[in-house]
Amino acid sequence: QQLVLLGSGAREHALATKLRQDGATVHVLPGNAGIPGSVPGISATDFPAIQGFCKEHGVKLIVVGPEAPLAAGVADYFLETDIRVFGPRRQAATLESSKVWSKEFMRRHGIATARAWSYRSDQFAEAQTQAEELDGQVVVKYDGLAAGKGVYVCSSIAEATAALAELRELHEGWFSFLLEEKLTGPEVSLIGLTDGVSIQLLAPAQDHKQLLANDEGPNTGGMGAYCPVPFLDDNWLAAIRADIIDPTLRGLQAEPFDFLGFLYFGVMLTPSGPKLLEYNVRLGDPEAEVILPALESSLLELIEATLDGNLAQTITRQRPGAFVGVVLASGGYPAAQFPTGFPIHGIGNQGQGTQVFVGGVKPGQQPGELLTNGGRVAVVVSHGPDLPTAVQLAYAEAELVYFQDKYVRPDIGQRPAPLLET
Ligand code: ATP
Repeated sequence: QQLVLLGSGAREHALATKLRQDGATVHVLPGNAGIPGSVPGISATDFPAIQGFCKEHGVKLIVVGPEAPLAAGVADYFLETDIRVFGPRRQAATLESSKVWSKEFMRRHGIATARAWSYRSDQFAEAQTQAEELDGQVVVKYDGLAAGKGVYVCSSIAEATAALAELRELHEGWFSFLLEEKLTGPEVSLIGLTDGVSIQLLAPAQDHKQLLANDEGPNTGGMGAYCPVPFLDDNWLAAIRADIIDPTLRGLQAEPFDFLGFLYFGVMLTPSGPKLLEYNVRLGDPEAEVILPALESSLLELIEATLDGNLAQTITRQRPGAFVGVVLASGGYPAAQFPTGFPIHGIGNQGQGTQVFVGGVKPGQQPGELLTNGGRVAVVVSHGPDLPTAVQLAYAEAELVYFQDKYVRPDIGQRPAPLLET
């Protein structure tokens, strides 16, 4: 089975690795210098070029990694062709790309989520009043792609006022934004494959978004992840199914969306039950780098079952033990600018139980040489019989990969177990 995988990060490296283990021949468009099978000349949003490539190589299946090609309509583009796309259509991708729209979807379909108020850019006064009524315990969210600058979690009226002022400052013209009540509790990432009718969940994961230990410092694309999540017991899972996942599936059918692809639920486990913070219409990164190695079943078969409408008849098996992924980042990330272009040493020497997936890299002068080329350079993923063992192995292996200015957050997979009631 020949297939095209769109994307260029460590998530796509993990996808390509898994799909190859499942027996597929994988072409990664554009991929990167460290992912075998990469085709650097073709961008993930250049649909005519992708179509040409598929024709030339007899490819009949496209798997989409990142959001951009989905939001640009890759699934719509190939609709009338004999090439099948594993990913939702543009309209369904709005579940991720518009926070206001997504919140309205949650409301329409009775999905457990934080209370929220939506405003347009001429309604800052109303938003201010509402923020004061909630004593500043609010989250302000810009409604659109904001390059990591779109969400402000506030703990006082002064912080909420400052967040609203910055939002007004940063964005011009007409826009919308949300004010949400601030919830508390640990967050989990639940990702499944769905045909909009049934869903097959992969291992629940937790990522670590902040740059520094103890969840301090600025937000990043993710500094590491682990799975499964020990404190997510059957009671929580049943509540998430009943209050979030099942009503989402009913909503997808009611709209109707013909949803097809990965669906990601960002869930907070609050004292009043699980609440949905957000949908993503793709695999999370770095969650994918741990949940794909954890998946014992064939991902290729799951994807084909989804496309054929046979998902309900399949069974998804996870490997036993724990998987921990530690991101190797460039010093200075996530600032706008930081030095890159440093040679990377030590990839390929990993022992059994460890894989390295590369993201922000480019080719060096020597054959096979990789240079740093971005914030999140690589993810070192280790498997162990339990979480502490996997953590220890991942850090030991991460030590052996070296580049100048390498930064590794020191406490991935070591968040203390929260006190939870169900
Ligand atoms: P990403 O896709 O990187 O997760 P995003 O920009 O799409 O982020 P959200 O997921 O909606 O935005 O929010 C980002 C983070 O802000 C969440 O992971 C969570 O930590 C925090 N957050 C969002 N909504 C709330 C809320 N209602 N209460 C408390 N914290 C929240």
